[in-house]
Amino acid sequence: MQRTVEIADFELPRGAVSISELMAMDRAGWEHLRAEINLRHKADPDNPLARCRLCRAGVYIKAQVTRAGHIPLFAHYAGSPADCPWYQGANLVPDDARAAQYRGHQECALHRSMCDTIAAFLKADPRCTHVAVDRYLKPHIEERGRYPDVYAELGQAGKFAFEVQLSKPFAFEIAARHLHYRAEGVALIWLFRDIATELPQGFRDVIAFQRGNAFLFDQAAFEASNDRGRLMLSAWLGDSRGGWLKPRLVGLDDLDRGNGRSVFLEDRRTPRLLSRGQEVREKWWQALKTGKPFDFTDPIVDKQFGPAWDSIKKYVPALSEWKNEFWRAHNARGRPHFFEVAAMLFSIARSAAVGEERVYVSRYKDKSRLAAMLNARLSNSSYKPYADLVETMLARSAMAHCLGRPSLHNALAEARGHTAQVGQEHPIWEAAARLFPEIFDGLLRAELIDLDHLPNWAKPMPARPTRGPEP
Ligand SMILES: [Zn+2]
Repeated sequence: MQRTVEIADFELPRGAVSISELMAMDRAGWEHLRAEINLRHKADPDNPLARCRLCRAGVYIKAQVTRAGHIPLFAHYAGSPADCPWYQGANLVPDDARAAQYRGHQECALHRSMCDTIAAFLKADPRCTHVAVDRYLKPHIEERGRYPDVYAELGQAGKFAFEVQLSKPFAFEIAARHLHYRAEGVALIWLFRDIATELPQGFRDVIAFQRGNAFLFDQAAFEASNDRGRLMLSAWLGDSRGGWLKPRLVGLDDLDRGNGRSVFLEDRRTPRLLSRGQEVREKWWQALKTGKPFDFTDPIVDKQFGPAWDSIKKYVPALSEWKNEFWRAHNARGRPHFFEVAAMLFSIARSAAVGEERVYVSRYKDKSRLAAMLNARLSNSSYKPYADLVETMLARSAMAHCLGRPSLHNALAEARGHTAQVGQEHPIWEAAARLFPEIFDGLLRAELIDLDHLPNWAKPMPARPTRGPEP
């Protein structure tokens, strides 16, 4: 078997042509290719029409004489790198060494060819002012520069860095790269060639960073890019069951640069984070809509809140045991007690959401009714154990400015001074954390902050001067 160049990368729009494709062509087809290659070689020898996939040197089509007639083969020009595993000329590299070299070269060559193809499509974009492949990117801000696989400036569409990732080993500092490029005003996009069923962790890390989006430069993306004369990508969006939606073809303009941390087509992560609390609160908002203020000792109100109670018990099963213990300790029903604490927290949430003090319990009507209600509850020994809980909720919400009021400040300090506080391991705190994870679940809260999607009601606002006298 004669050694031959197995894949030649032609200038776009032709792209890759394998030796089997070449040999399957009719004679007129490969003769045309051969003529075009030769014309280019004459006119511009440094810029060959077709290159060897492995060594990137120019190749031509030679017509091999066989008994069956002429057979087309790709061949290196004389003077090509003799260490190319596909080099057909006389060289002294033994075959086993050549095979090992080939395996090392193969992925590297595919990587290089993908980068060149992507760069060519970027160059074809009329907005493109600059494209570089594997060129050191001199930083404007940070000290260390980087070598993006492909870098492009596309006018108003912005600056893009592409990292082409074929397999392991994966860049370990994914977040650091994103932060570096963000500081330079460059959007970083990771490109894969395919999506394996068992994705290595590095790929998963990137997809998580891209908010559940994977971008592929695959056959479909190549054909779409060829058709439209600019870079197109296959966008794979994760579904809620760990699989993928039907892939879509997208251009760079379709992508959202979000808060600059990563580029995505559709944020698949944030809605999932936000729904975590929304789902748990659903039954509560339904019950809270039925009319206020609520007297939870009233059997009719107690019944109205039945579905809300059943729902929270599903999330925090420890509430059942807590309810029994509460009865033993206080000779009082736990349910209305829990509703009362929940109503305090929902009053804070509602006030934070509408930007005005609202309460679900008590009949206070003035502007500072939230603080007045909390003051009254915290002076009752039954609710003193929740001073830490209430303060945490206030401090991390848009109602944080209420903590600046001396009366509330004193009521909290007084309650804390007299009574042991419920902590994170207490079923009521746990329930509060399930109802308002945006406030109490540190991991979820931090991730929403990172994504720039913490809801406004859960953001502490700068202190505002209160109007009117303290209640
Ligand atoms: Zn070669």
